[in-house]
Amino acid sequence: MKSSDLYSEARTLLPGGVSSPVRAISPYPFYTRKASGARLTTVEGTTLIDCCMAYGPLILGHAHPEVRKALEAQLPEGWVYGTPSPHELELARLITGDHPSVEMIRFVSSGADATMSALRLARGFTGKGDIVKVEGGFHGAHDAVLVKAGSGATTLGIPDSAGVLPDVARHTLSVPFNDAEALSRTLSAHADVAAVILEPVMGNIGPILPEKDYLAQVRSITREHGVLLIFDEVITGYRVGIGGAQKKYSVVPDLSTFGKIIGGGLPIGALGGRREIMSLVAPAGPVYQAGTFNGNPLSLTAGLATLRILHRDPSLYRRMEDGTRAIGESIPRSPKGSFVRLGSMFKYFFRSSPPRDYRQAKECDTTAFRAFWERMMREGIFLPPSQFETNFLSGAHGEDEIRAIAGRYAACLSG
Ligand SMILES: *Cc1c(COP(=O)(O)O)cnc(C)c1O
Repeated sequence: MKSSDLYSEARTLLPGGVSSPVRAISPYPFYTRKASGARLTTVEGTTLIDCCMAYGPLILGHAHPEVRKALEAQLPEGWVYGTPSPHELELARLITGDHPSVEMIRFVSSGADATMSALRLARGFTGKGDIVKVEGGFHGAHDAVLVKAGSGATTLGIPDSAGVLPDVARHTLSVPFNDAEALSRTLSAHADVAAVILEPVMGNIGPILPEKDYLAQVRSITREHGVLLIFDEVITGYRVGIGGAQKKYSVVPDLSTFGKIIGGGLPIGALGGRREIMSLVAPAGPVYQAGTFNGNPLSLTAGLATLRILHRDPSLYRRMEDGTRAIGESIPRSPKGSFVRLGSMFKYFFRSSPPRDYRQAKECDTTAFRAFWERMMREGIFLPPSQFETNFLSGAHGEDEIRAIAGRYAACLSG
């Protein structure tokens, strides 16, 4: 089996040959046969060190033995019930315990599902219609947030998506990241804003880090205007540490959305927040939300196993952080690029200094990135195939892998 042949057929069966746009690498993407720890093996039998980690969920690496054991123990018991199961309480206890702002939680099936429902809930709670998002912030692929979206849409140079009604997009206002003034002006000018939604650390064109006090200012500005603050922690939840970005930066949002890591590599999403707000979610209240696979026992089992390991071994976070530090230190300084990292998130931007917002991120030299990405692939390192995606380490990246990544970053950047 060859990736090029598979892709030829895939293009006749799947739009663009793929199931999600960022995977459409030209001239053809490699097809994965299996994955374990920090490594992917292609159908051709090539083994690659993975710094993409499925774009975020795999904080423990691929096919972690303990997560796999938990799933194997669950499988004979069934994998979707359509009824409540005790798993829901276990994961809800853990996540609410780790996030004081989250008193109640609804499990859904994806991160997009979580942000879509959180925005509906914010509208239902406040009775207002508009939302504010940050330019380049990515919150999944649904209409209200496919307005100047980042991630795949950015790479493909599509500012909006066809099929999103102007009438829907009109209710989504955008402000630049790291600009509290702009948010303040926007909320003063628009009285009908239900919520501000943002990634506290921008992950889908980043990492772009919040500048000092920015998130605290966002908190006080939204509170002043009676606008709900939604932290989209789909990437940052359990990634920047237990308790997420809200703990790291000591800012308390009204609602939070989760996904990725909390499903341990299986599909999941969740929204949570103050009891007063969450009590409006159906069937407790009038804001409708439902899903066949919500709280399915398999995703919850993988998520629980993952979060338990993170709780048991907090040194994992320190080791991943040491890893990105070592990679950063190995890179020779150059006016052509800048290295940014936060814990296990990192990236080399082809721009002289780290971007502070979307517009600056868009200044990156994507041609130089592409040449670098190809060199890294030839050296056996798989980076996300876009200048705009965050690179990740996992707990499965050991000293050997870090040394290999660091050495090849340095070599491929100077090559
Ligand atoms: C990945 C992501 C989403 C969407 O999650 P899906 O499970 O892919 O729908 C939402 N928000 C952020 C910040 C993400 O990184």
